[in-house]
Amino acid sequence: MEHLLDYSWKQFRDWFVSKGQPGYRVAQVLHWVYESPKISFDEMSDVPKVVRRELKKSFKIFSMQVASHRKGSDGTEKLLLRTQDGEFVECVLLRDDKGNRTVCISTQIGCGVGCAFCASGLDGIVRNLTSGEILEQILQLKCLLQPEERLSHIVVMGMGEPLANLGRLLGALHRATHKDGLGISARHVTISTVGLPNGIRRLAELNPQYHLAVSLHAPNDELRNRLVPANRRIGIQAILQAADDYFAKTGRRVTYEYVLLRNVNDRPEHAQELAELLRGRNALVNLIPYNPVQGLPYEVPDRRDVGRFADILSRMGIQVTIRYRKGSEIEAACGQLRRVHPEIVSKSKKKKKKKSAAAGQEPTGSSESSPTSDNTSTSDSVIISNDATVAISDHELQMYEATEDLPAEAEQAAPAKPSDQVSE
Ligand code: SAH
Ligand code: SF4
Repeated sequence: MEHLLDYSWKQFRDWFVSKGQPGYRVAQVLHWVYESPKISFDEMSDVPKVVRRELKKSFKIFSMQVASHRKGSDGTEKLLLRTQDGEFVECVLLRDDKGNRTVCISTQIGCGVGCAFCASGLDGIVRNLTSGEILEQILQLKCLLQPEERLSHIVVMGMGEPLANLGRLLGALHRATHKDGLGISARHVTISTVGLPNGIRRLAELNPQYHLAVSLHAPNDELRNRLVPANRRIGIQAILQAADDYFAKTGRRVTYEYVLLRNVNDRPEHAQELAELLRGRNALVNLIPYNPVQGLPYEVPDRRDVGRFADILSRMGIQVTIRYRKGSEIEAACGQLRRVHPEIVSKSKKKKKKKSAAAGQEPTGSSESSPTSDNTSTSDSVIISNDATVAISDHELQMYEATEDLPAEAEQAAPAKPSDQVSE
């Protein structure tokens, strides 16, 4: 069974042609899919019955199952999706009182960068998500909207480093923003990156419409090296230069995200140094008070310190906003998304220990997963067994380094020209 969302427009058209069908069937079928993603092929009333039967035999629209669905009292909803190969990925729907409905999506299973304060990198990286899996998160979240609600924004701020999977991400975003796709304004899409200079320049070349947010978190390399270990190989100056180039090429103001960690990077001297670093740039600083992650040693900053930090920046001429916490009660806030949940891991580890003891063996580190709930589950009590917890290894760091240059392999999976995806 093929994942329909991983088929490019051309591949899908070729499939119809091989069945003796006209190319316009592609538009017909995809229109249904984008309008009501949960639709079954049987319900596509303008598609001939015989074609529907063939579609049903060959494709599924959603390749991932909802393993858990949690709702917060502030309107935030989080889905934990189980991929076909038994991995997990999280994505979030955020609601605000202006009527904006924003989806926050992931680009990788886990993350190989390993920032010291983030849950997503804690268990390392397994693989990049496919274009179809990235798009599917948006569609699965769209299904949670009420009839009167409209999806308005996309933020690529979930698990993973988006620029390390840029080709596939752009393939998915192209379909999300195309008029024959989901039709979301490209200017309402924000891509947040840890700061990969080559990736930033590539993005500027390929799609200058999207908004870029760079996760800075420190005003000097010494501190940033501690918080974002990958910085040792990059350095703040190289990131700022790439972001300046992005602005020069796109005319879009760059946002700098700064997670505030109590007594680590939230002191007045940090604010001053940051203001000096960004002085003269058309930049916006987005302060993100730390969202607690179980097992990490950091603390939430004092409210007054957050206010003082923002004041110093703004008095020194830097535009600043503070990101209000959304979804933290269901661990759906920034940096709280993860592919392995501690309670699930400890449960499955215990189970495994028991099993190995019975078999007289040492437990192994291999991964094991059990079937989870179906698409209709809204419970968060589903037991997910997954032992694939791994420390960030040299291998993963190499993967990370390699992906900075966007190898040909990553480009091939998505269209060379993203526009090939939806328009002929
Ligand atoms: N990998 C990308 C995008 C995903 S992270 C990046 O790093 O930008 C999205 C944002 O959440 C980043 O700015 C990241 O630094 C922030 N973040 C990570 N962990 C956090 C935490 N525990 N509390 C608050 N923000 C966090
Ligand atoms: Fe990865 Fe971003 Fe988390 Fe860093 S902050 S570990 S880059 S997801």
